[in-house]
Amino acid sequence: MTLAIPPTEPRPVVPGAVTDAHTVARLLTALQSEGLRVEVPLSARVGGAGPADAGMLYVEGVQTTVPTSAAYVASSPYALRGEDDGSWAVYRGTDRVASASLAPRPRYYDLTTEHGIPYWKIALLHLDSVASTVLQTCAYWGNDDQCAFCGIGVTLAAGRTIAKKTPATLAEVAVAARDLDGAVDATLTTGSTATPDRGAMYVGRCGEAVKQSAGLPVQVQFEPPSDLDVIDRVADMGIDSVGIHVETFDPDVLARVAPGKARWGIEAYFTAWERAVRMFGAGQVSTYVILGMGEDEKLTVEGCKRAIDMGVYPFVVPLRPVPGSLMEDLLPPPREAVEAVYRQVVPHLEKRGMTSAGVTAGCARCQACSGLGAFERSDGGLREGRTTLPLFVGA
Ligand code: SF4
Repeated sequence: MTLAIPPTEPRPVVPGAVTDAHTVARLLTALQSEGLRVEVPLSARVGGAGPADAGMLYVEGVQTTVPTSAAYVASSPYALRGEDDGSWAVYRGTDRVASASLAPRPRYYDLTTEHGIPYWKIALLHLDSVASTVLQTCAYWGNDDQCAFCGIGVTLAAGRTIAKKTPATLAEVAVAARDLDGAVDATLTTGSTATPDRGAMYVGRCGEAVKQSAGLPVQVQFEPPSDLDVIDRVADMGIDSVGIHVETFDPDVLARVAPGKARWGIEAYFTAWERAVRMFGAGQVSTYVILGMGEDEKLTVEGCKRAIDMGVYPFVVPLRPVPGSLMEDLLPPPREAVEAVYRQVVPHLEKRGMTSAGVTAGCARCQACSGLGAFERSDGGLREGRTTLPLFVGA
């Protein structure tokens, strides 16, 4: 069966219903840890450098990506089911726990370039963000430096993308994604290159072309360049936000899961972020922080707080084991462990006046791969001077 669902506007969580928003935030976190069983074809990715094994949908109007196809999902208590009126809902056993709507197949996926390359091989639509890995190769891939959580070479080997996207074709696809499917920003990442800029200049030029043609806010992501002036040059291209991703604040874990990145050391990320915040502004610089790789919780939270204090948004996500990656046999971390970190990071974000709503473009703006943004909106953890969100146990 193929779903033909018209695009739907995300529905807001019930206004003023703090408890409901909080319940939704907890449900999203649970779904991202345990997965969602689906009995219908759902738009999903199975590889790449972004959200892999990612069913894309709206739960109570909140955009989210959840694991749907990995083996462990078969034992998830959560299932997506059709309702009698043609709508969708998330069930836990026989209990209906939330409404759901599915991301439709983007219309621009039917288009091709003048050279016959399907637009979807150039950039995918991640809910409302047009996203691409502009260089689908990485200096670390296929050798001892490969990041264990990454699937950048998997998608390429499977023929689901092309190795190098040009600024012109990315701009062409972004315009179509904006006009046909309502893309609101562009998220561009790149494999790391064996050059001093680590690929930052090329992904920057791609972002510049997208911004000039489509007028969309653009985030570009790259490794810390050895020459920090590269960050200034990327800013001069008119890019809105940048992602420079340390992945974990636990140095032992970084050395084990990302030896290439670990070679620069975690301090190199703080140094690059400092320059990036100066050029792009507080809140427009972000880092992925992946949970579930064996990291120390205290180091993780301390690292997030230090990043926040300097104006960097820590985009905390649960590990999503990528099929074909070195971590494909792992499980996402338990919901409780993920929530425990969210509950310490969100109040510090609030304390510093930083929210995902203030991020102009990219993963931290979208928030679909994390429950962090939903927790931000759910409780106001620092009201009455709290420094952590209250911890609830149970479903
Ligand atoms: S640096 Fe690591 S995460 Fe980034 S593309 Fe290369 S292997 Fe993947």
